[in-house]
Amino acid sequence: MSADADAKLAWLTEVLGVVVSQPVPGGGAMRNKPPSLAAIGKALRDPAALVSRLFSAPDVAEVQKALNQEVERLEQLGFNTDRLKLDRDDQERAIAAAANLPDQAARERAIKRARERLAQLRDHGVALAKAAAKVMGKATGTSDSTQQNAIYRRALEDSYGLRIAVPEGMSNTHFDRLFDMMGTVPRNHSKVRTIRKLSYEDDPDYGGAYGGGHIIMGDFGDATGSEDYQIEGTTVPANSFDVTTLHEMGHALDDAKRIMRKHGGKTGCGGWRRETPASIADAMLAHFLRSVGVQAPLTAGMVHAAIATRLAGGQPDAPDGVAQPQWRAVQDYLADVVNKSLASTNPWFKSSAVDVDGRSYVESYDAEWWSYEYAARAPTRVNNYQWRSPAEWFAEVYAITWLAKRKPPSGVDAAIAAYLWQS
Ligand SMILES: [Zn+2]
Repeated sequence: MSADADAKLAWLTEVLGVVVSQPVPGGGAMRNKPPSLAAIGKALRDPAALVSRLFSAPDVAEVQKALNQEVERLEQLGFNTDRLKLDRDDQERAIAAAANLPDQAARERAIKRARERLAQLRDHGVALAKAAAKVMGKATGTSDSTQQNAIYRRALEDSYGLRIAVPEGMSNTHFDRLFDMMGTVPRNHSKVRTIRKLSYEDDPDYGGAYGGGHIIMGDFGDATGSEDYQIEGTTVPANSFDVTTLHEMGHALDDAKRIMRKHGGKTGCGGWRRETPASIADAMLAHFLRSVGVQAPLTAGMVHAAIATRLAGGQPDAPDGVAQPQWRAVQDYLADVVNKSLASTNPWFKSSAVDVDGRSYVESYDAEWWSYEYAARAPTRVNNYQWRSPAEWFAEVYAITWLAKRKPPSGVDAAIAAYLWQS
């Protein structure tokens, strides 16, 4: 056998536990005999034993044990460890699945990644326990809700380096949920330099925002509200507080790594292109000329001016000499196409978009215009809000995949999928 085949067999032997020890002829030490194919086959048919072997690899077993001890300790302290356990289970599944990877390097990478995540989850738990010790001091017994709030706040400050500001009298900050969301993504997502500050707006209509290293959360009441996403045609419900937290964290990650700046133009990232009102007026005029057409005395210049006026927020009047029904056709176009790209009509809350020769145009924010590939909408869609801008596209895909522990829609580009839940 080649050295590579030897290495593979050695790995397989260790993982499957099919080593057969036999006496060396002439007595003395036992030595290992290569396993028979039958022995390997038998081991593969017993998945429970296989998984137990995988976890008995010393480094994985150690970190797993440390994490489980941490979970137990937090439960004794009265903390909810549901999310932490879900995250742990993910990694255990990833390690088990890695066993089926035929390529040794890929297998080792997958196990290493899962082991690192288990260690991060343990650190995440330790941070909470440390914060509890600081806040509780010499107090005995489990913490009450006020104390828990202070503990989670302390853990977010100490472990994730957040400066936190809360409006006077606002108590429903849900630091516990925020802490869970920080732990549910890899450490190099939650510890980016662009997450420095967390504050709240005492406003139930606020939602969330991110800008310049600062995450702002609104007033989510008791944080039981939910909203629906879609992945490959399946409805995926999401807790609004949790998904908004991850959404803002997604903005921070995108900001730090310039993800959409690098990849946003790809079809699997929405096919985004920066626009101006002038570039949009040109594209819409070309579309109008093809789909409707002009007849004297109406001219292309008049239609262009009407579209530009509407994009600027105005209501154009019929030019001198142009009567119905020609002007009516222009007005219909303004209503059916141009209006639907304006921020004042919230196109990102609509479940459909307008196909203007293969692109959809949107006034994303004040003085910020974009277009995306109309055909990219269906295969990469998770919700409507995603189609406000490249930044929102990434934040929404990011948030729902991590929260729901679901792979993104299959149309999403691999460069983006690398930042998403993928176990
Ligand atoms: Zn956003």
